[in-house]
Amino acid sequence: MAVSSPYKYIKIPAGARITVREDGTAETPDNPIIGFIEGDGIGPDIWKASQHVLDSAIKHCYGNKRSIAWMELYAGKKADEVCGNYFPHETLDAIREFIVAIKGPLTTPIGGGFRSLNVSMRQELDLFACVRPVQHFKGVPSPVKNPQHVDMVIFRENTEDVYSGMELQAGSEDAEVLRAFCMERFGWEIRPESGLGLKPTSEEGSKRLIRAAINHAIKENRKSVTLVHKGNIMKYTEGAFMKWGYQLVKEEFADVAVGWADCNGDPGDKILVKDTIADIFLQQILTRPMEFDVIATLNLNGDYISDALAAQVGGIGIAPGANINYETGLALFEATHGTAPKYAGLDKVNPSSLLLSGVMMLKHLGWVEAADVIVKALEKTYQEKKVTYDFARLMDDATELKCSAFAQGVVDNL
Ligand code: NAD
Repeated sequence: MAVSSPYKYIKIPAGARITVREDGTAETPDNPIIGFIEGDGIGPDIWKASQHVLDSAIKHCYGNKRSIAWMELYAGKKADEVCGNYFPHETLDAIREFIVAIKGPLTTPIGGGFRSLNVSMRQELDLFACVRPVQHFKGVPSPVKNPQHVDMVIFRENTEDVYSGMELQAGSEDAEVLRAFCMERFGWEIRPESGLGLKPTSEEGSKRLIRAAINHAIKENRKSVTLVHKGNIMKYTEGAFMKWGYQLVKEEFADVAVGWADCNGDPGDKILVKDTIADIFLQQILTRPMEFDVIATLNLNGDYISDALAAQVGGIGIAPGANINYETGLALFEATHGTAPKYAGLDKVNPSSLLLSGVMMLKHLGWVEAADVIVKALEKTYQEKKVTYDFARLMDDATELKCSAFAQGVVDNL
């Protein structure tokens, strides 16, 4: 039954609203209204599969006591079809009102057209932390010898850095004005006909992200937080990120955490906060992954690191993610891969990334039992070698299943 709605296209189902406690955590009713964006390309296939598993696990764990009232939100191609607009404002309003949502991937044209809907959504809702846990699930094929040694949670800053969209096209009048100003004011030599972009990195933006990473380390009993940066080259942006991180440890976490330089690498019972340069980090996650735990980093580094780490544990088809503002409580869970257009509508791809994002969402809501049974059932299904094409081609004697059949296999293993 739909209830009366202030929205033009969104239909609000019967259910109750999630509220946010003072500490930013979610207070979840037994029948929360949760928004979903199906997504473009393979989005509808993986959403249908994931929703089936999420609903089945909730029923399995809580019977009729708990269920999610799903509310469709529009963005991307479907929004254009339904609302005549790729990014209707009411989608953002509904996420603000209902607090928690989950989304499939959305298409972004390269080098022109509209800005990335994903990036716009994160920035408009100020979802400053992109949280990506990376761990290996038994049975998943991996290109490294010991994928089980990878167990990290990446906190990627989502709102600043070169992703802020402050770019001027080469040859434009605005680019020439900025170039002339930089030459006159700072004596910077910039070639004519250069594209220009800004890399804003603020103390507030850096500290709130690193604060979220340290709080996560405390909550999850993690041993270290590593600040990953290129401060050796970009001193006042990436270098400042590191400096503010160590400052924050002293200002707010002195009783539970300590910076490397203040303990000579021996933190005792405290959480060790250390830093590393981004390029050497990409080598060390391959050679010494056990040394890393929670990672806090800037936007662009975080993008590269997430995909590199995901590859070590089975690829982007399985890596989950969430975009969270730990102050307002707004949270948008999402598949980390794109729309894989060549597989759209084929019921072929791996729904694990979106499904595991749903698992993160269940944990966020406090429905830990349902989250845990899904992870166990997923592992069992991988170990039975009943998998989608991407894993099947890397395994001997695997049974290749369609996306929907794989989801049913997981449900059967609940
Ligand atoms: P992509 O992630 O869509 O696909 C790259 C390749 O990865 C695919 O061809 C496929 O082989 C594999 N792959 C991706 N998802 C898979 C899955 N679930 N199961 C199995 N294999 C999978 O990357 P792309 O081709 O660079 O981007 C396509 C579109 O997606 C672009 O418009 C891009 O902007 C967009 N995109 C969106 C998001 C997002 O919504 N968060 C993220 C990345 C890219």
